[in-house]
Amino acid sequence: MSDQQTIHVGGEWRAAATGATREILDPADATTLAVVAEGGTEDTDAAIAAARTAFDHGAWPRTPVAERAALLRRVADLLQRDRESLGLLESRDAGKTLEEGRVDVDCVTDAFRYFADLVMNESGGRVVDAGSPDVHSVVVHEPVGVCALITPWNYPLLQASWKIAPALAAGNTFVIKPSEITPLTTVALVRLLAEAGLPDGVANLVTGPGDPVGARMSEHPGVDLVSFTGGLVSGTKVMRAAADSVKKVALELGGKNPNVVFADACATDEGFDTAVDQALNAAFIHSGQVCSAGSRLIVEESLRERFVAELARRAEKIRLGRGTDKGVECGPLVSAQQLARTEEYVASALAEGAVLRAGGERPTGPAYGEGYFYRPTVLDHCHRGMRVVREEVFGPVLTVETFRTEDEAVALANDTEYGLAGGVWSADAGRARRVAGRLRHGTVWINDFHPYLPQAEWGGFGKSGIGRELGPAGLAEYRESKHVYQNLAPRPVRWFAG
Ligand code: NAD
Repeated sequence: MSDQQTIHVGGEWRAAATGATREILDPADATTLAVVAEGGTEDTDAAIAAARTAFDHGAWPRTPVAERAALLRRVADLLQRDRESLGLLESRDAGKTLEEGRVDVDCVTDAFRYFADLVMNESGGRVVDAGSPDVHSVVVHEPVGVCALITPWNYPLLQASWKIAPALAAGNTFVIKPSEITPLTTVALVRLLAEAGLPDGVANLVTGPGDPVGARMSEHPGVDLVSFTGGLVSGTKVMRAAADSVKKVALELGGKNPNVVFADACATDEGFDTAVDQALNAAFIHSGQVCSAGSRLIVEESLRERFVAELARRAEKIRLGRGTDKGVECGPLVSAQQLARTEEYVASALAEGAVLRAGGERPTGPAYGEGYFYRPTVLDHCHRGMRVVREEVFGPVLTVETFRTEDEAVALANDTEYGLAGGVWSADAGRARRVAGRLRHGTVWINDFHPYLPQAEWGGFGKSGIGRELGPAGLAEYRESKHVYQNLAPRPVRWFAG
């Protein structure tokens, strides 16, 4: 496979039908990291046709569950074998630190192992009591068919695995389209699937832009399910495009995630240190380019000054740089476009009256050169009238709002069209559980921020999406249920007399 043969169709690696290519840039210095095929409609149609043939005529959908699970485990072992090279590739492509790249590979490995175990435990059907000894009634699971999997640039390998692992466990075939900005680790993962012994045609890959590749996948009548992770605007386009052929649609979209801090969480020095530390982690890990980033700090009024002063002090000290350099804590933003977007949001916030407490500009100095760096930014005195508080920035920007009562905290935290995730900090366990119970978000962390478990469903309320990844629901997404009702003693029913 040459660099430019990054399209995988029916077991073959190819260049784009048009011969078009795209340069993949290293966000730390804007130099070319790789050149990949820029697929188009013809490549997408070929990939869907290959997945269709493999589903309709191939062995994979009927392969015993134990064999499918064994394949997933082999993939997990290969991921661990290549942990260092994959972690490095993810770090360079997406701009995250090398350690984050390695952790991503571990999380991806866990996802493959989890779905291998889950499908073994949940392979049997469910016998239904039909109310008659003469009837045997059972509900069984079958794969959905050909799945179109579309992923974003912030966690390329992780988002791909949350779709690929359950899709394969359930017996589907698929076409995956990674983000055109960060396709490299998805190409590597598809190569590992082949190495693990996945039959040709089951996994297909088209590198290329959202339109036409993703758009074609979403509308194509040969696709049975489209699972999309990305932004709200593209997600709604996917849903519209999928409507004519009534595909199953799963959407994992953005978030504008509250991190609610009650003063009682900071009554001790240790509690204060932990809550500040985790607020930094919530907002600035991967330079805030995380769908569940805790980008809205909602802090009790009496704590505000002390909390924000310390937060801003520590935000100023975050070490920016190339993700592979020693000691670097935050890498660059992924692209010039993402940098411009972040700058634009900060400018709009300041124009609307926010008070800058940290960051608010690009770092200067030779280390940053042409890279897409932006300093971790804390904006105080924010309110819901501001765009920066309502809309997802997807950059290292934290806004601060305050509350006086528990009701006010809940109202603020729920005052978003999204509903992906949120955090609650309190030393009062009852209050923390009460507030968590009232938050309209798909994940709520109490006295923590960001951890997720492959066993627990991930997804959003409101405009954060439709459906769930991970957990049993993450497998169910890729399965159809079929009710088989068998009459053991058939007799005429005489509904019609004649
Ligand atoms: P994006 O919507 O721009 O792109 C996502 C993917 O969709 C890319 O592969 C892109 O090429 C493709 N795409 C674009 N237009 C399309 C179209 N018309 N039809 C089909 N596909 C199309 O998002 P992004 O900028 O890559 O990623 C950032 C977004 O992803 C953020 O909003 C973030 O919150 C979200 N995200 C959500 C989760 C989650 O689990 N909920 C996880 C990661 C990222």
